Amino acid sequence: MPGGVNSPVRAFKAVGGNPIFARRASGAILETTDGRQLIDFCMSFGPSILGHAQPEISDAVARAVRDGATFAVTTQAEIEMAEAIREAIPSMERVRLVSSGTEAVMTAVRLARGFTGRKKILKFTGCYHGHADAMLVKAGSGVAGLASASSAGVPEAVVADTLVAKYNSRDAVLAAVKEHAHDLAAIIVEPVAANVGLMLPDPGYLEFLRKVATSAKALLIFDEVITGFRLCYGGYQHICKVTPDLTTLGKIIGGGLPIGAVGGRAEIMERLAPLGDVYQAGTLSGNPVSVAAGLAQLRALERLDPFSAMEERTSELVQLIAQVAKDHGLHVQIPHIGSIFSVFFSDKPVRDFDDVMTTKKEYYILLFQKLLERGVYLPPSPFEVCFTSLAHDANILRRAGMAWSEAIRAL
Ligand SMILES: *Cc1c(COP(=O)(O)O)cnc(C)c1O
Repeated sequence: MPGGVNSPVRAFKAVGGNPIFARRASGAILETTDGRQLIDFCMSFGPSILGHAQPEISDAVARAVRDGATFAVTTQAEIEMAEAIREAIPSMERVRLVSSGTEAVMTAVRLARGFTGRKKILKFTGCYHGHADAMLVKAGSGVAGLASASSAGVPEAVVADTLVAKYNSRDAVLAAVKEHAHDLAAIIVEPVAANVGLMLPDPGYLEFLRKVATSAKALLIFDEVITGFRLCYGGYQHICKVTPDLTTLGKIIGGGLPIGAVGGRAEIMERLAPLGDVYQAGTLSGNPVSVAAGLAQLRALERLDPFSAMEERTSELVQLIAQVAKDHGLHVQIPHIGSIFSVFFSDKPVRDFDDVMTTKKEYYILLFQKLLERGVYLPPSPFEVCFTSLAHDANILRRAGMAWSEAIRAL
């Protein structure tokens, strides 16, 4: 395997040292192949909101797989899943299940272009939308809004219709839209940006994007692959009270198995094949095992309503970390929302990707190493967020808090 891994961050290039290898996990604890028990704050980058190996999900998976892992024929459970999603997120009037967040975004972008008959997509620097070619861009030099490919193998022609703006900047959006309003198919955004550390939207920013998209007759796409079912039983769209035209989901709705979903206004979604002229398909789309896992997780979240308890525990930990850092004269920013937080070493708030780039990443790397030595696993990159799960109970977080305190002291 190139780099020894099947997804690059796992190779620990960003933090140094030897990557860990997982044997199994349970609750908040990840066990490595060399027998270490780590308190996990990476949590597979988001899907495992109830904790690892949650019995309800494992049982649902076992039952589903015994009935056959794939049929490529519609099942009752897919209908229940689509209905559960629509009930929780009413703006998703129609839902299509796919196999990853990347695929969901790819489909949303194609759909937006097909529906509007326009080409340009506006995204934000620091927002990640999976690894589809058109989304692998960075801000280009020169004219505002123009993007250039951020990966080899992505032809400039493929990203020529992707525009970029600074997250939380109104001027950057207005400049890009002014230039391209007649050809703007969609604005796509992570309503809470959680792929370069955590960046919260400024108050009113998402309403602003809604207004700009509407007046340009472009669609607004919320990429809720992380935020969907993470902060409430629904999307961040319920918290910010802004309704997008299309929403993408992934991670949590699969309960740890591969899945993605795209949904939105019926008239847009019904442009998808077989009803419409926008093509999309997948052998394993709506896979019965993934759907069983996802549905079990959604049902549990609906029943347990764990969101405010998780928020409370997470903010206690965040306050502890902030206090210890302060006591030791370290400047930290620890943005947090619900069960997501990230640690930036910086003396000013982090509002956009430029701010992220000025934080002291070498401190994060040290913190990562000091915590790993003390049995706590953070995401192996300064550009990822920490997640807690329902399994991160008071006892686990007390132990974790002691390790965090010692690690910060050791910095
Ligand atoms: C993880 C993620 C994706 C990509 O999902 P995959 O399942 O990894 O393809 C897309 N958008 C956001 C916001 C994500 O966090």
